Amino acid sequence: MTPRIHLHILASGSKGNAAVVEGPCGSVLIDCGISRRSLLSRADELGVDMERVQAVLLTHEHSDHVSGLSVFCNHFNGGIFATAGTLGARKYLTELPATVIDHSDCLELCGMQVKVFPTSHDVADPIGFRFEVEGSGHAPDDAVGYCTDTGMLTDQAMTELVGCRILALESNHDENMLATGPYPGYLKRRIASNKGHLSNDQAAAALQELLTDDTEVVVGMHLSQENNRPSIAVRTLSKAVGAEAADSTFTEARTPDGHLSICVASQDAPISLF
Ligand SMILES: [Zn+2]
Ligand SMILES: [Zn+2]
Repeated sequence: MTPRIHLHILASGSKGNAAVVEGPCGSVLIDCGISRRSLLSRADELGVDMERVQAVLLTHEHSDHVSGLSVFCNHFNGGIFATAGTLGARKYLTELPATVIDHSDCLELCGMQVKVFPTSHDVADPIGFRFEVEGSGHAPDDAVGYCTDTGMLTDQAMTELVGCRILALESNHDENMLATGPYPGYLKRRIASNKGHLSNDQAAAALQELLTDDTEVVVGMHLSQENNRPSIAVRTLSKAVGAEAADSTFTEARTPDGHLSICVASQDAPISLF
């Protein structure tokens, strides 16, 4: 694949989420769960031009994904896309001038095909995305997958996330840390359920089916600050694909041939994946 799509993760985790997918003819913002001020300063830190953003896609209605949306939209003229379930779940979302999409739609945005798929979470109608730039033949020129806040990977998610060059996949918690950690029982059960969050082990198991020779970067998303550590997530994901630590703290790993790297997104430090 040729790098035609770039992913800039501005924030990832239960305190706020936002990412910019930079396509050939504009950029798409996924979720807006941080303040406009943080969004702009983090974009600036990465050198991301927010003037290029033409569309906003929402994964679901939890506040860590939409809390900054109203203010952002006061200064935004592009399209907002979300499922009817997501838009109907919060009064201020129903008031946005948004376009309703279905969880199996295929959209054309910013020179990319955006394939929507259902995720599994305790909300109305949550979704994930595959961004693709078409090649001349059957194979895509580039593909980026984005899937977070899902207790399990749906069949459609497993189909759409295969063979992405950049794969952003939830790796929320270490199952043992969650089980023995400080959260109350109901919350532990919610997180571990099929409508909660994907564990490191679940993400690692999925990688064995999702990765192809085209995959260059896997980034673990929405890490719990209470029930996970970057080094534990990277180690677990790495084991599944035969990657080895790239630094002493095990926050990045690479396969011995250098083709595939594993890293994690963070709540506070934005990262760009090219
Ligand atoms: Zn979330
Ligand atoms: Zn959520």
